[in-house]
Amino acid sequence: MKYLLLFVFLLMSVSVQAKEIRTNAVIMPNAPKWLKRVRVDRVTSKIQYKLEWSIRRIKVHFYDSQSEFEKIHNFGKTASAVTKKSKKEQSVHLGPLVNDSNFDRIFGHELVHVIFYQKYTGAIPSWLEEGFANFLSKKKPVDYKWLAKQDLPPDVRTMTRPCRNTYGNVKLHYRVSQALVEMLDKKCDLENLLRLSVQRKLDDYIGTYCEIKDLNGTFKQWVMAKAK
Ligand SMILES: [Zn+2]
Repeated sequence: MKYLLLFVFLLMSVSVQAKEIRTNAVIMPNAPKWLKRVRVDRVTSKIQYKLEWSIRRIKVHFYDSQSEFEKIHNFGKTASAVTKKSKKEQSVHLGPLVNDSNFDRIFGHELVHVIFYQKYTGAIPSWLEEGFANFLSKKKPVDYKWLAKQDLPPDVRTMTRPCRNTYGNVKLHYRVSQALVEMLDKKCDLENLLRLSVQRKLDDYIGTYCEIKDLNGTFKQWVMAKAK
């Protein structure tokens, strides 16, 4: 009996340990079996290095059930992951569509949101934030042939958060935003632009440091040229 209890106890502690991942940057109370600590560290280090920041530790939650996941946000079915930000704490929520093959990209994307909140405190305009998150988490480059055929927003600066954007198209918001970041990377020094923008408005530097006076005109030309 004693041995049986010991065995049950060991089994329980093993399964509990296998589920929690803890690093300097994150606590994942219910990480899936396929995820290893070293992988979490690798993705985190890459994003932290690019944005020159050590994350103040956050919680990362996994959801098996889509309905449980949708209870914690209001993006409906379109979101696969969500980052919640408040002064008190930031947390990342990974829905059931996050798996072994897309984890690095999706988790990396959310960590960009976390660092933008912790380090840049409002300096990154909302119309660039998703683009940066995609670009820095190494999402494949924008399909410019597709983008050139879309109704591009007349003023990209009026694009607000993707869930309520005025153009009603979430996919378009992400692609326009990412294309803008790809353009800034080409026409400006993106690393330095980010460095300059800590707690100052990044948008101000687009005209001065990057010398892009007419952002919307330059962007349309950029999209058309890339689509050729
Ligand atoms: Zn995002």
